[in-house]
Amino acid sequence: MTPEELARRVARIRQELAEASDGRYPAPRLIAVTKTHSAEEILPLAEAGVTEIGENRVQELLGKLPGLQDRFKVHLIGRLQRNKVKQIIGDVCMIQSVDSEPLAAEIHSRAVAAGRRMPVLVEVSPAGEEQKGGVPFEETGAFLKRIAPLEGIEVRGLMAVMPLTDDEEYLDGLFARMRGLFDRLREKDLDGAVMEELSMGMSGDYRLAAKHGATMVRVGSAIFGPRG
Ligand SMILES: *Cc1c(COP(=O)(O)O)cnc(C)c1O
Repeated sequence: MTPEELARRVARIRQELAEASDGRYPAPRLIAVTKTHSAEEILPLAEAGVTEIGENRVQELLGKLPGLQDRFKVHLIGRLQRNKVKQIIGDVCMIQSVDSEPLAAEIHSRAVAAGRRMPVLVEVSPAGEEQKGGVPFEETGAFLKRIAPLEGIEVRGLMAVMPLTDDEEYLDGLFARMRGLFDRLREKDLDGAVMEELSMGMSGDYRLAAKHGATMVRVGSAIFGPRG
């Protein structure tokens, strides 16, 4: 794809995000999901004004990082094994997929050792598909309370991956439910948690996510085309 076409797609998505949030909420930031794409393919995004990218595999990310690190902030958005945390603790701006206490504890201790505090999001399972990862919806508040005191992490909000379905009404309900949970937890004002990010919405549903006040959407194939 030419850099011009990439830039057109990014501009169109941003426009749609602004329209869908419709003044009710600020338009979400666009996190370009760059998994499976090479550093060469990714770099033109900088020209399109993209400053944040998302990757879901540690090994793949580490291989591409040298070419990308000065241009983009990198979010880790996929499942993270505990034994890989130390490899990325200095290189990512946020870990979006924290859904267990052992993982939170590992990030905490590696961050403390590296002299930093790692921003994290709690991944919530919005539809009870727990095999896909994410804290069960009803347990999110209790989970947050348990991990927020760890000094090596800074809880910044929630993240959700919606189920794969064309049922817009169902998805609309799930996005609304996530926004409701986010607002309730924010009002609780828990020590150690700054609830300002709600990461939800992907290529198939970013407009709905924007309508319900996502603060960031994670979009891959709508930018780069379907993954082979
Ligand atoms: C791949 C991925 C995305 C982006 O998916 P698209 O449908 O290509 O936009 C978003 N979030 C997570 C966690 C992903 O793994």
